[in-house]
Amino acid sequence: MLFNPKTETFSHLDPRSREIMKKTVAYFESRGKAKLKEDSHERRWYSDFLNFLKENEVFATLLTPKQHVIDGDPDKRWDTFRNCDFNEILGFYNLSHWYTWQVSILGLGPIFMGNNDAVKKKTAQLLKDGGIFAFGLSERTHGADLYSSDMSLTPLGDGKYVADGGKYYIGNANEAALVSTFGKNSETEEYVFFVADPKHENYDLVQNVVNWEGYVAEYALNGYPITDAEILTMGRDAWDSALNTVNVGKFNLGWGAVGIATHCFYEALNHAANRNLYGKFVTDFPHIKQMFVDAYTRLAAMKIFSQRATDYLRSASEQDRRYLLYNPIVKMKVPTQGEEVINLLWDVIAARGFEKDVYFELAVKDIRSLPKLEGTVHVNMALIIKFIANYFFNPGQFPEIPKRDDPADDEFLFRQGATKGLGKIQFHDYNVAYNSVDMPNVNIFKEQISIFRDFLINAAPGPDQAKNIDFLLAVGEIFTLVAYGQLIIEKYNLEKFDDNLLEQIFDFMVRDFSRYALQLYSKADTTEKQMEWALKMIRKPVDDRERFNNFWDKYVFALKDTYEMNP
Ligand SMILES: Cc1cc2nc3c(=O)[nH]c(=O)nc-3n(C[C@H](O)[C@H](O)[C@H](O)COP(=O)(O)OP(=O)(O)OC[C@H]3O[C@@H](n4cnc5c(N)ncnc54)[C@H](O)[C@@H]3O)c2cc1C
Repeated sequence: MLFNPKTETFSHLDPRSREIMKKTVAYFESRGKAKLKEDSHERRWYSDFLNFLKENEVFATLLTPKQHVIDGDPDKRWDTFRNCDFNEILGFYNLSHWYTWQVSILGLGPIFMGNNDAVKKKTAQLLKDGGIFAFGLSERTHGADLYSSDMSLTPLGDGKYVADGGKYYIGNANEAALVSTFGKNSETEEYVFFVADPKHENYDLVQNVVNWEGYVAEYALNGYPITDAEILTMGRDAWDSALNTVNVGKFNLGWGAVGIATHCFYEALNHAANRNLYGKFVTDFPHIKQMFVDAYTRLAAMKIFSQRATDYLRSASEQDRRYLLYNPIVKMKVPTQGEEVINLLWDVIAARGFEKDVYFELAVKDIRSLPKLEGTVHVNMALIIKFIANYFFNPGQFPEIPKRDDPADDEFLFRQGATKGLGKIQFHDYNVAYNSVDMPNVNIFKEQISIFRDFLINAAPGPDQAKNIDFLLAVGEIFTLVAYGQLIIEKYNLEKFDDNLLEQIFDFMVRDFSRYALQLYSKADTTEKQMEWALKMIRKPVDDRERFNNFWDKYVFALKDTYEMNP
């Protein structure tokens, strides 16, 4: 279940993709942990990693959509299935290195979604030459409020413009081959996306706003000349490509979190299992076992859910937009679960987690960033809440989505279309998945869902509550949990993994449901009637010591000393 670089063969991938993954693992393992940590502490820009990517045409192979391939290479395509592996590997070794990949993906979005064929062709060549890319959306003072973007493009006539303004928090904007930049036409107020070149004299690289190996830039365009040749999109298309690009990028955050948490899991287990206190190994303490079992099951659930969400992302079409629910969950639920896994593991590894020579010390900070990128948890939850009514009360008919491990090019991602109409999107009936399983903890969870559904019918949030995001967040957490469990069961049905794993996952799912129900109960705005319903949702998982002990032996303790990064 968990990625282990020492044993992973990547046999699920085609030969070229396998080669890329294996070489990437070898790159990190041959440099070793001491160098990884030293470079991190010294905040050294990772030019050697970028050289490795260039020499092996890694980004060119993984990030050139098939229709834009210029050299006829049959292995180049945009294939989310294999890109998930790459995300996981980079998260596993170092999130700063993952970040250069992540923001390149974001930078490429507006280009390949845009209308400028010449820039697309040039970009394919730049990828082949080893270029990285950047996505200039955020501004210092505006946060999530994209409507207020101040970057301005002033028309001069004859297809000429001049760009002025600043961008903030922009990854790779120090060395990107092209920086996709979002702004507004200063005369028409229309949105616009154009590309800028960091080497241009009117491009001012102000600073790295973070103290990190990665470069998160503040840059300014000062009277920067632009022509039609640099414009990617205008008006509604520019707006849509901003949001649709974020849809693509969001997906990587969950997989980055899976990678980070997996590496931490090995470090914490190796440490605890070899540490003897009062004549006992730390892993013999019952609370340590509970923490490890919870960490493992949460991590397994993160991965299982994200794998199933990949199937929906790859199968998305104009008729099937269900990915717009599952994507934000991969974005915000999976990384926040990653934080929870690290919290559990940190209580086990304790002081060792602070030491300069362990991966853990990097990870504890990096894991915090993921929920905040590509829209905060709140912003994504506000998005998800729009789907509740159709999800519970108006299911649609869809063909069954199989496991999508085929080497297809995910071309729909670059023509997702208008970003409106979210409230009209339908989903398949969640009961189909839940009713396919008859196991004790899953059954308790089903009862909790049923009570939640009754709550929505009998004590639905009123108009004031619907305007109160604080109240809605509590409702949204429960809704998210239902969809999370649904896709986990779908994956169980596809792969037929161990029943005990599913039951142990639903052990924490039942507890989480109860926790969110209590939060709902406790909100200032919750009415007496709603409080009654919330209390009914609070349940306890079945206590099955035998299953727990077997699980500990088979899934957790069995991983002791199975992975340690090369020194
Ligand atoms: C390390 C790092 C790298 C980054 N890289 C890039 C990059 O390459 N390109 C790029 O364009 N951006 C990048 N960003 C910016 C990132 O996407 C923003 O940080 C993020 O969108 C949130 O904006 P903010 O932090 O300014 O929070 P704000 O938007 O200021 O939010 C403040 C608070 O208000 C809440 N809030 C805001 N709006 C809403 C809403 N509608 N509903 C509910 N709650 C809301 C938020 O949840 C938060 O709690 C990066 C950020 C970091 C930290």
